[in-house]
Amino acid sequence: MRPLIGVPCQGNLRSRYRRYCVGQSYCRALQVAGGAPVLLPLLDDETLLAAYQRLDGLLLAGGGDIAPHHFGEVRQAKLSSVDPPRDRVELLLARQAVSDDLPLLAICRGHQVLNVALGGTLYQDIVTQTPQALRHNFHPEYPYNYLGHEVRIEPGTHLADILGAGRLGVNSFHHQSAKDVARGFRVTASAPDGVVEAIEARDKRFVIGVQWHPEELVADDPRMKHLFEAFVSEACRFCAT
Ligand code: MN
Repeated sequence: MRPLIGVPCQGNLRSRYRRYCVGQSYCRALQVAGGAPVLLPLLDDETLLAAYQRLDGLLLAGGGDIAPHHFGEVRQAKLSSVDPPRDRVELLLARQAVSDDLPLLAICRGHQVLNVALGGTLYQDIVTQTPQALRHNFHPEYPYNYLGHEVRIEPGTHLADILGAGRLGVNSFHHQSAKDVARGFRVTASAPDGVVEAIEARDKRFVIGVQWHPEELVADDPRMKHLFEAFVSEACRFCAT
């Protein structure tokens, strides 16, 4: 049976037609890996939790910036679009999923949301706050499958079990990154400049955040497809219990 994977939407598109939406690549990657994606609108907590109760896994997708007050900071100059209802929904569901040990795959903004939800902080802008850093934002000149830099995956981690330890070429479309990592989490991959590129919860079955976009690389690198398959497989195991 295909496990149900909840994917919170974004709701801040500039359009007079008010819409909730999710990038197609996330849905397709879940579908190809054997999951059944379920899009979650940004409604009230009670409605969301009713939907959440039926899920077998949660995917937090990419998008704009988290409002910095969620990690105890004031807004700085370099902040892209914020989406307060999305922040509320994703922080709630991330905390709930970690608490319940529900499988969770968090990508780019989602990886940052996961870290903040559990008490971590972010660099609001890599270029201004860590000037020695390499380029991490290849938007909009490069295609989404462009491998902008390498990461080194730490041996002995859940991520290494799935992708293999050592060097991996990744795409990179972010201007923020994890600063202090949430308690109970560890860094599982870093860029050559030290920028945190992946985290995972210790002692959970599958709570993984990646700063790159594996959903755009499933056709190019079988390891990226395998990340989705491992996630869906763990979600499926959860739904059988
Ligand atoms: Mn990067």
